[in-house]
Amino acid sequence: MSRIAYVNGRYLPLRDASVNIEDRGYQFSDGVYEVCEVLDGKLIDERRHIERLQRSLSELRIAMPMTPAALSVVFHEVVRLNRIHWGIVYLQVTRGVSRRDHAFPPAGTRPSVVVTARNMDFAAAEKIAGDGIAVITVPENRWTRVDIKSVSLLPNVLAKQAAREQGAKEAWFVDNSGHITEGSSSNAWIVTRDGKVVTRQVDHGILKGITRTVVLEVMAKQGLKLEERAFTLEEAQAAREAFVTSASQIVMPVVRIDGKPVGNGAPGLIASALRRDFHQFAEQS
Ligand code: PLP
Repeated sequence: MSRIAYVNGRYLPLRDASVNIEDRGYQFSDGVYEVCEVLDGKLIDERRHIERLQRSLSELRIAMPMTPAALSVVFHEVVRLNRIHWGIVYLQVTRGVSRRDHAFPPAGTRPSVVVTARNMDFAAAEKIAGDGIAVITVPENRWTRVDIKSVSLLPNVLAKQAAREQGAKEAWFVDNSGHITEGSSSNAWIVTRDGKVVTRQVDHGILKGITRTVVLEVMAKQGLKLEERAFTLEEAQAAREAFVTSASQIVMPVVRIDGKPVGNGAPGLIASALRRDFHQFAEQS
């Protein structure tokens, strides 16, 4: 079965789906994206993802290309056409097509919209979560507005590749003060020896993950203590547990950081319980 993409109003087989070479996403990374988990054909936390999209677009002064209701129809149609059982739906919105010039294109240039979806391997992901993942650290070298979910991801690409080359699944960025900001495609968390769950406060220095937001709700329900603050590499390596969160990984235990085992080197109880309960709290549509 050929995968189907939505491109500017049309549903097309991937091989026929293309964008203009003067699209500003292609020329300048002038666009934003969202990734939403799909479970049993339902979108997870779609409302929050669309809200974050609207925020990213408005920070960059790109017009919302369609209403949230219309976008929701497109999401569900792409999920249906691609028969997604468990996977992700990907949305990209750019400032549109115009003759190459750094400054904004003429008023009225229509944003470009692409939506794709793909299945993921549930059993393989469960196996990885059962083993836990290794992370490495890399210097924070991104711009100062990573709260905007921009498609400009070169530092994240290089960080993830460095992780892969070192046998790890994720890279954590460490800022000038020695504090971890977040992962290349996830938020970073630790559990201290005295059982407090720590994750960095949200500001312009990290992406406010939708999974992060929901995990905070799960934690409150489970009676866990939270500290929203930055933590250092040393603190993370001395932690009882560590984990990452993202729409495609949900809650993923971290068992090694820069080669050093976290806790007893196995997935922690808190991370595993948060992963287990996550979908009871996430919205499905
Ligand atoms: N931080 C970064 C840099 C990301 O790319 C992502 C997800 O792709 C996240 C955090 C987690 O966000 P969410 O939970 O909304 O997927």
